[in-house]
Amino acid sequence: MEPKAKILVVEDEQNIQTALVDFLEYHGFEASVAVDGLEAERIVAEQSFDLILLDLMLPKISGEQLCTKWRREGLQTPIMMLTAKGLEKERVAGLNLGADDYITKPFSLEELLARINAVLRRMDPTRKVGQKFQFADLEIDIASLTARRNGNEISISKREAEIIQYFAANPNRVISRDELYKEVWHEIMTDLGTRTTDMHIAKLRGKIEIDSNEPQIIKTIRGAGYKYENQIS
Ligand code: CA
Repeated sequence: MEPKAKILVVEDEQNIQTALVDFLEYHGFEASVAVDGLEAERIVAEQSFDLILLDLMLPKISGEQLCTKWRREGLQTPIMMLTAKGLEKERVAGLNLGADDYITKPFSLEELLARINAVLRRMDPTRKVGQKFQFADLEIDIASLTARRNGNEISISKREAEIIQYFAANPNRVISRDELYKEVWHEIMTDLGTRTTDMHIAKLRGKIEIDSNEPQIIKTIRGAGYKYENQIS
């Protein structure tokens, strides 16, 4: 069995901290906790992690300061910022400090898991942890390329699984075809790319939507792209 990915949760709010640790351990990660900036600094100096979940508003040393310091010292561990600040300006500032991703509070655990998996896969494409997740009313299993609804198994292709993973990691946001094509196919958009994207979405809808003429999971936003609405948060 593959070793568990180690995640450090840097969070001072007890209830969020407990919820995160329980959730991460349930999904097969090994979770450690730091309750303030100083403790985080000490733990990171002593141990290595696969990912750091970093709250920004922390006692003693702020998340921003920690992130800046770690990157200046050459720490390569992926950092995902947990921020209550939803403003685009502040998100961009977080990424400029060297964070790999950020998630805005309040967030759904489904979205957090999808994002953690996306960051870990970027670091190590062979990683197989946490490949089961909920997508609308479907349970997706990436390892076996299946989607399950009420015990019914639906086979999905590897590409379809990648499309689902991208939507799961980016809920409630309009995803343009250009973005989807770039992120899933890793190519620059062309006319062929537009058709490829639409064909794949149509085929995927045929598999996962109850009525593919009235899609409820991956919706079309006219003139803009597609959107996965996740109302759990
Ligand atoms: Ca806090």
